[in-house]
Amino acid sequence: MTHPEFPNLHIIDHPLIQHKLTQMRKADTPKNQFRQLLREIALLMGYEITRDLPLSSEQISTPLTSMEAPILAGPNPAIVPILRAGLGMADGFLELIPEADEGHIGMYRDPVSKKPVEYLVKLPHANGRTFFLVDPMLATGNSAVAALDALIRHGAKPSKIKFMALVAAPEGVRVFNQKYANIPIYTAALDERLNEKAYILPGLGDAGDRLFGTL
Ligand code: URA
Repeated sequence: MTHPEFPNLHIIDHPLIQHKLTQMRKADTPKNQFRQLLREIALLMGYEITRDLPLSSEQISTPLTSMEAPILAGPNPAIVPILRAGLGMADGFLELIPEADEGHIGMYRDPVSKKPVEYLVKLPHANGRTFFLVDPMLATGNSAVAALDALIRHGAKPSKIKFMALVAAPEGVRVFNQKYANIPIYTAALDERLNEKAYILPGLGDAGDRLFGTL
């Protein structure tokens, strides 16, 4: 499902994903279930958003005969979680594509400027591969844009990048689209808005804290 204001935003409304997201939103869902649900949703969303990965073929022998059989073409895709909550989504995605390489982009918010500051960028080679950048919460959009800047600086082609979130806020999608309107965003929900502390409403709280049990 696409959105009239945001043509690059794809809301994945599969019933299983929606049901699991509701469990994640509940304030009393414990950490172990929250982690497991995020992994499961990432796997299900991953299935949807990898539909157009290119295929080539190879000659194989079955027990009965030989055939030309389809395989994923080109370099393995790369999955890049934005630290730290992205790690919980990357796990599910890697179950789906175990051959994928994994990079990491770490950022913190500068307490004075409120802007994201990179502290880690460690990425596999870019040559022609598809990058899946993942972060459960697309809130202000600032860290998504900073992570895309880092990915493109590294050599990733914008046409080969997909962004996967779990919940997005309209404010974040607008900031994202000011710079990267041609990069597709996949999310399970577009929520109402950000609150004064830049948390998504109704949202699910702090995804990193709920995943890792921190405060
Ligand atoms: N990050 C989170 O983890 N939750 C929000 O609601 C916004 C940003």
